[in-house]
Amino acid sequence: MRNKLAEVLVGKGIADTKVLGAIKTIPRHLFMDSSFEGHAYQDKAFPIAADQTISQPYTVAFQTQLLQVRPGHKVLEIGTGSGYQTAVLLHLKAKVYTIERQQELFKKTKLFFGKMGYRPKKTVFGDGYKGLPADAPFDSIIVTAGAPEVPKALMAQLKVGGRLVIPVGVNEQVMTLYIRKSEKEFEKKEFGSFRFVPLLENKN
Ligand code: SAH
Repeated sequence: MRNKLAEVLVGKGIADTKVLGAIKTIPRHLFMDSSFEGHAYQDKAFPIAADQTISQPYTVAFQTQLLQVRPGHKVLEIGTGSGYQTAVLLHLKAKVYTIERQQELFKKTKLFFGKMGYRPKKTVFGDGYKGLPADAPFDSIIVTAGAPEVPKALMAQLKVGGRLVIPVGVNEQVMTLYIRKSEKEFEKKEFGSFRFVPLLENKN
């Protein structure tokens, strides 16, 4: 079923063989509530705890492809959610720092990582708008919730040459890639539109 899902993604334009390798390997059904498990290898988003969603596999693959992860890269993920995107980054041998603002999901997914033997460098309960200044700079940053605007803190925490992939917008989001060209310059590229749950400021 995972191989079939990878074929579907190839049909939709995903070409990065390492990303496709992750999709073929990671048991997505284990990241979902048991009531949806039977649908895990459809190319669809599904509900997880705390009114959030596990992203659509195409979206995960698209964002990951834009990140251009190399083994050993330090990658910051905003929105741990189910942990599926984290697992994809770990499969690519990134050192992953991941932040979640919903306490319930943070606890649940942290336990799940332990059980599965997934080892992010840090699994943090907090506000992704602020990033993780103490661990910066990062080779890349991926935001997995819809951001009304690009958080300045995240731009500041990118290495020169680093890549930030962020869906920007309120009702619908434009997938946006920023490449840091120098201390002060960023190149911006826009891709298609997507739909995400909102990136919320810390209300805990
Ligand atoms: N990467 C996840 C996608 C989950 S949906 C997966 O593969 O399952 C987006 C997640 O972002 C939700 O879990 C939501 O709670 C979280 N989120 C929203 N605003 C946030 C913020 N300010 N900081 C960190 N996480 C946030």
